[in-house]
Amino acid sequence: MNIHEYQAKAVLKEFGAPVAEGIAIYSADEAEAAAKKLPGPLWVVKSQIHAGGRGKGKFKELGPDAKGGVRLAFSLEEVTAHAKDMLGNTLVTAQTGDAGKVVNRLYIEDGADIERELYLSILVDRTCGQVAFVVSTEGGMDIEAVAEETPEKIHNLPISPDTGVTDADAGKLCDWLELTGAAREDGMKLFPILYTAFVEKDMALLEVNPLIVMKDGHLRVLDAKVSFDGNALFRHDDIFALRDESEEDAKEIEASKYDLAYVALDGDIGCMVNGAGLAMATMDIIKLYGSEPANFLDVGGGATKEKVTAAFKIITSDPNVKGILVNIFGGIMRCDVIAEGVLAAVTEVGLQVPLVVRLEGTNVELGKKIISESGMNVIAADDLDDAAQKIVKAVKGGA
Ligand code: GDP
Ligand code: MG
Repeated sequence: MNIHEYQAKAVLKEFGAPVAEGIAIYSADEAEAAAKKLPGPLWVVKSQIHAGGRGKGKFKELGPDAKGGVRLAFSLEEVTAHAKDMLGNTLVTAQTGDAGKVVNRLYIEDGADIERELYLSILVDRTCGQVAFVVSTEGGMDIEAVAEETPEKIHNLPISPDTGVTDADAGKLCDWLELTGAAREDGMKLFPILYTAFVEKDMALLEVNPLIVMKDGHLRVLDAKVSFDGNALFRHDDIFALRDESEEDAKEIEASKYDLAYVALDGDIGCMVNGAGLAMATMDIIKLYGSEPANFLDVGGGATKEKVTAAFKIITSDPNVKGILVNIFGGIMRCDVIAEGVLAAVTEVGLQVPLVVRLEGTNVELGKKIISESGMNVIAADDLDDAAQKIVKAVKGGA
């Protein structure tokens, strides 16, 4: 689960990290009052969306010359003008995709005088099986280019779960970030704080880009992007309360109500599969035959007819879906349950696109019988290869 920057900063502040004062607002009327509560004379007006790259982003409604989603303001009037400009408009960044995201909240922040912009993130490094820091002196808005062109400027430090961040670890991070004087003292305190926040709150990613050295020599967390491990949210009610469903895919929210493992993708072939591995293989083979999957979906082993019906309805509700592939290998899952679920959904919402069904395993004969006697317009397939070719062909229009 992702949260907004201002929420992430509040969480980090609880642990003692240095962040600027700021106030979140939902309408331009609130902008001036919010800015007045901050010291000035520099304010930053920041779009709050669940995506990075806001500074370099462009608003769809404002034309190519308008400023991006993070703007400096030097007067109260300017704060209000920026707020009016941004709220309600659609911000497109390198991370949002072409559709962009509508800005419904802004964060008005006390502006900082920046000396240097650094990069710092903490993540679960799967190669070493540990939580690791990633740091670079080349922070700011072009970190992706740094990773591509000068990867030697990015440093990685795994942290032992037995010790947490030791002084030696913190010192190494300070060295890599070339921190001296007050900034170094701040860093020695900040790195263990961020690690503790990461572990205690079960974060999946904590990215501070940039971490800044200010003109006064101190460090500050200037941007914060945090996501949490969904499997641990049950023990963090405070974090779960920060969820902003307007930022999430409506289909994924619906799927989560039914405990379905569903991820929306950009392609046009909807997939209903049991088992995560088979679902991955199904997506791969769709790509192999030249199309793109519209989703990942694992209906799970013990799915009920209701769950299957819900899953099928979620797939058909996606306007990009031009065809559906049902691929079931019934082990614990029974083919007749799948067939009944699909039939119930089709009866309820209709079927506007080609449907290829490949069933194998427990109760396969019964499952096939339910489908063939239903009168549904189904293309039957014998195996995965056959099924993938048939759905791609049906969608691409070849006979
Ligand atoms: P992002 O573009 O979504 O990553 O948003 P950031 O919060 O990282 O802001 C983008 C850029 O705006 C930063 O890299 C800074 O250069 C600039 N910026 C943000 N806050 C301030 C501030 O308080 N003072 C100054 N001078 N620049 C800022
Ligand atoms: Mg940033």
